[in-house]
Amino acid sequence: MRVRNMVDTSNLKCNCQKSDGSWLSHWSIQKNAPIPKYCSTDGCLNEVEIGAHVVAFHSEDHTPFIVPICHECSVKAISFEVDDHMLASADCK
Ligand SMILES: [Zn+2]
Ligand SMILES: [Zn+2]
Repeated sequence: MRVRNMVDTSNLKCNCQKSDGSWLSHWSIQKNAPIPKYCSTDGCLNEVEIGAHVVAFHSEDHTPFIVPICHECSVKAISFEVDDHMLASADCK
C-alpha cells in the first residue's frame, strides 16, 4: 500500500498493556511478531529505528497505521510503498 507519514505524531504514546511505550513495541504486540530488522519501505535497506504513524496515500480514509521503518523514511515528505502485511493498527490494546 502507498502511504505517507502523519505529521507531528511525536506526542502520541503507545499505552498497550504489555508495551514499553514505544510504537515498535506496539507493532510487535499488534502483529504478535518480533520487530523486523530492516525498514519496511520498499527498496530501503536501513535498519528499523521507529514505529511510524502512516496513513493511506490514495484514500480519504485517514485511519492511522503503525509501520516499522528507519528514521530517514519516517521524515520523508513524499509517499512511499510498504507491504500491506507490515501495517499494524494504531489502536492500543
Ligand atoms: Zn527506510
Ligand atoms: Zn499500543
